[in-house]
Amino acid sequence: MPGSPASREWFSEGLRFECTSCGQCCTGPPGVVEFTRGEGLRMARNLGLGYREFLSLHAMQIDGGWSLQEIPDPEGQGLDCTMLDRQSIPGKALCRVYPDRPQQCRTWPFWPENLYSPHAWRRAGRRCPGMDRGELVTFDEIRRWMEPRPSP
Ligand code: SF4
Ligand code: SF4
Repeated sequence: MPGSPASREWFSEGLRFECTSCGQCCTGPPGVVEFTRGEGLRMARNLGLGYREFLSLHAMQIDGGWSLQEIPDPEGQGLDCTMLDRQSIPGKALCRVYPDRPQQCRTWPFWPENLYSPHAWRRAGRRCPGMDRGELVTFDEIRRWMEPRPSP
């Protein structure tokens, strides 16, 4: 990927994003939702579980780290993240641990690969109806989302 996405500044006027709770970013083909030990501890606490119990019920090991497990979606079309809640609000798909979701989820859709170009942003938006609607997220805020953060 040539150059730094942020240096291109095609999104210097900011971008709009407002999650519709459709859940499409939490389902689909097999994927990875990585989390750190600190994030795992917070999710476990949120669910009222001990850490070991949380790992055994909701996590799988990948490349020396951890990812959230996936379960078949109700229509058999793909896999849901184990934290996806399709029951609580009809027509919505919510995250059971939303305030404590991992950074990977927290930073969507402001991922470098989506910000690489307007085309990449539009392409990602085909699966995420929250992109290009709702609140304006300023350039500075987007840059902050993109900054690497220490793993707690
Ligand atoms: S795909 Fe986009 S709009 Fe739908 S739940 Fe994920 S972030 Fe929200
Ligand atoms: S942790 Fe929550 S936000 Fe992240 S993929 Fe799972 S359901 Fe979606």
